[in-house]
Amino acid sequence: MGKVLIIGAGGVATVAAHKVAQHPEVFDEIMIASRTKAKCDAIVKAIGNPSIQTAQVDADNVEELVELLNGYKPDMVMNLALPYQDLTIMEACLQTGCNYLDTANYEPKDVAHFEYSWQWAYKKRFEEAGLTAILGCGFDPGVSGVYTAYAAKHYFDEIHYLDIVDCNAGNHHKAFATNFNPEINIREITQNGRYYENGQWVETKPMEIHKDLTYPNIGPRDSYLLFHEELESLVKNFPTIKRARFWMTFGQEYLTHLRVIQNIGMARIDEVDYNGVKIVPLQFLKAVLPNPQDLGENYEGETSIGCRIRGVKDGKELTYYVYNNCSHHAAYLETGMQGVSYTTGVPAMIGAMMFLKGIWKKPGVWNVEEFDPDPFMEELNKDGLPWHEVFNGDLEL
Ligand code: NDP
Repeated sequence: MGKVLIIGAGGVATVAAHKVAQHPEVFDEIMIASRTKAKCDAIVKAIGNPSIQTAQVDADNVEELVELLNGYKPDMVMNLALPYQDLTIMEACLQTGCNYLDTANYEPKDVAHFEYSWQWAYKKRFEEAGLTAILGCGFDPGVSGVYTAYAAKHYFDEIHYLDIVDCNAGNHHKAFATNFNPEINIREITQNGRYYENGQWVETKPMEIHKDLTYPNIGPRDSYLLFHEELESLVKNFPTIKRARFWMTFGQEYLTHLRVIQNIGMARIDEVDYNGVKIVPLQFLKAVLPNPQDLGENYEGETSIGCRIRGVKDGKELTYYVYNNCSHHAAYLETGMQGVSYTTGVPAMIGAMMFLKGIWKKPGVWNVEEFDPDPFMEELNKDGLPWHEVFNGDLEL
């Protein structure tokens, strides 16, 4: 039995809160705290469980967080706010003796650059405090790492090639919208691409490399090579990997909007002066774009995310593809949110469950693939994200 504090009240937090509330045998006390308390109260109302507490907190402020954590005394904080808050929340957890989980690695606000070094630097302090920090426990990062660990544990002596493939074949009937926080999303996909090959990182221009990949139940979709944070931890934790890449699908309409947004300067993350008011264009853009939380109602189609792996077992080459398809509409019916929030919020709940059950509990700062994947994989099947396997199929990569 455990007490959990969810920080953030966006799409991912809404799904995680619904899922946490479905498991009273594990989570016996729940609090949701965010910058805007009214949003936390709205989630509680949607779940219909008035025993869930809510609070207001500015998670950029360590002192405020420490006060909240000392008052509520959770066993674990699920950080489902934004990557900017990772370090302040980790710091507050250390000061109050609380365990930590998140779904995205730290990014400084003023540079669109993400890497694990900032959070891995906390490893010794978490170890010494006897506290567990689980990093990147959404779908990708998250399930992508668990899938890789599962493949390594059960099917391969050595993994040589890893391709993480992320397809959103949904249609929300808006001209342009992002599926999670627009600011974080646009920062991520407008960066240079990067992949790992033979011990080195190879950089590409944004969206420079793309090819059609075929997704189950969906068909071929143009897929673009991006850098994604789990590549950094996976090549470190599975050193036999010779090449690791990440692919994501984008439609032409989306890419055209993105190009225009960049060309007219609206993707800028530096401050500009507008009639004496300092604004960051990308933050302003977020305020006028559709809210990802409102996309669910008319969202049709599915996501399909998986790992395509090639390696050897008993001296023989083997290919393996493990994936989940998630229906936006089914996600909406269950939680009021679309599939991208769902595929992130469910694994976050499962990660917290693994910790509270004592299965994923070890002092230090860890990426998900460093834990036993089996109980997590079992839980994915029970909690709405069933997975499927293809052996020795054509990986197309
Ligand atoms: P949203 O923008 O919908 O929600 C973010 C929430 O955090 C909002 O409720 C916001 O408050 C709150 N927040 C922001 N700043 C603060 C602050 N300083 N103090 C307290 N609360 C704050 O984002 P999503 O739900 O779409 O995404 C949540 C996280 O999940 C992000 O980190 C994202 O990168 C990650 N993600 C991970 C994925 C994965 O597969 N691993 C996939 C998709 C997302 P307010 O409502 O007041 O603005």
